[in-house]
Amino acid sequence: MGEKITMDADAGLQVPTDPIIPFIEGDGTGVDIWPAARLVLDAAASKHGHSIEWKEVLAGEKAYRETGEWLPQETVEVFTEYLIGIKGPLTTPVGGGFRSLNVALRQILDLYVCLRPIRWFEGVPSPVKHPELVDMVIFRENTEDIYAGFEVEAMTPDALKLRQLLEDAFGWRIREDAGIGIKPISKTGSQRLQRAAIQYAVDHGRPRIHWVHKGNIMKFTEGAFQRWGYELVREEFADVAVGWADCDGDPGDRILVQDAIADIALQQVLTRPTEFDVIATMNLNGDYLSDALAAQVGGIGIAPGGNANYVTGHGIFEATHGTAPKYAGQDKVNPSSVILSGVLMFEHIGWQAAADDIVRALESTIGDKVVTYDFARLMDGATEVKCSEFAQALVDRL
Ligand code: NAP
Repeated sequence: MGEKITMDADAGLQVPTDPIIPFIEGDGTGVDIWPAARLVLDAAASKHGHSIEWKEVLAGEKAYRETGEWLPQETVEVFTEYLIGIKGPLTTPVGGGFRSLNVALRQILDLYVCLRPIRWFEGVPSPVKHPELVDMVIFRENTEDIYAGFEVEAMTPDALKLRQLLEDAFGWRIREDAGIGIKPISKTGSQRLQRAAIQYAVDHGRPRIHWVHKGNIMKFTEGAFQRWGYELVREEFADVAVGWADCDGDPGDRILVQDAIADIALQQVLTRPTEFDVIATMNLNGDYLSDALAAQVGGIGIAPGGNANYVTGHGIFEATHGTAPKYAGQDKVNPSSVILSGVLMFEHIGWQAAADDIVRALESTIGDKVVTYDFARLMDGATEVKCSEFAQALVDRL
């Protein structure tokens, strides 16, 4: 029988050697990648004397089939109680239907940081000449911005009411046939994300942080994010970090904190990747930036993600790609994204040695050119294997 992971306000996460970890298999290719990932995670954990008691919880299509609900209350309660979990991708319809289950889980558990490390693994095919220069960690704000879900549909009574209110109160004229979304960016939401990013840079010896924003245009939301970030550095981290303007670009042995406008940042992460290290940004910018960066190091088949609240201890780790429904059940797609999300989870609960072993096994497997279809089509002389065979190849090298 496994035990629960708990949170101690002073000492942080308390992790037994046999934790109970809830998982959501995921829709579409979830049926392929989750069992593959689980095989690898179990093998690495057991090598280091740990064992995981996996506890399945339902969400998405499987939940709807079995319970009539897309996100059963029980799932939310289990994640709330057991603190740390992992999930495969879930379907979200475009332009209508229910809101994203992924976004709902992040908001219900207040998982304010979306952590997306982006690095290259030797041998992975890449569209850029020097993918080895890409080594960045993105902290994407997860609870605010236009993802908060404050949106009304064009021509509905709600939209017409809101439009009228804005005109009456502020003189803002919005076309009658416009849908309207609201973009809240708070000091609280910004600074708790920025605090986590600075702490990460301190803990991992990262020398540089960028606030990425579009504050030249959206002054009181994205612009305020930048300003609050620099204030935080001055007020809470002056001994370990300094803003560009406060040191003329010469931070000495402190972490240099600077900012970049989102559009130029998207260009510079491609043309000057060595100048970026830790990046903190708002929800939508972070979404674009992390997928664009993932493309440089091999695509979303290999990009991991974690969603965390560093105060309550909650974390849900997840593949960053979607359900790829056309491949579902074919035992074909690349399980690396969910495997590496498991690596992030292991790091988060302090199982660094097991995490490092998986990374080494992945590098060695890809180095031997044993890969799934997505990499095989871009590599010369590759041995294309199925999703489950790729996982077994990793286990063989652990
Ligand atoms: P997608 O499922 O990520 O698939 C887009 C393409 O990415 C696939 O056709 C495939 O490319 C490649 N791909 C995805 N997963 C892969 C893997 N494991 N290995 C290798 N290649 C992989 O994106 P989508 O088609 O836009 O979205 C489908 C559904 O997923 C939607 O309902 C969407 O809302 C949802 N979604 C969920 C999450 C989440 O749960 N976190 C995230 C994003 C999207 P090729 O065709 O080139 O082989």
